[in-house]
Amino acid sequence: MSVTRNIKCPKCGLFNTDKEYCQSCNTLISYEKKRALKEEEFIQKEVIKAKYKIANPNLAERLKNHPFFYIE
Ligand SMILES: [Zn+2]
Repeated sequence: MSVTRNIKCPKCGLFNTDKEYCQSCNTLISYEKKRALKEEEFIQKEVIKAKYKIANPNLAERLKNHPFFYIE
């Protein structure tokens, strides 16, 4: 059984039934879609961080060798 959801557009006030974008003004109104986009953004940030780590593989080594910073 599917649930029909009416989402009111925050921009123009039109009620849209099971739509990701407002039929009137094309504003993103789907909560699921918004969350998915946020998650995507988060993943992209993590990928950038991971890439940075790969690009700087000596950072941990340098810290290890620092006289005032012991990891082990
Ligand atoms: Zn709208």
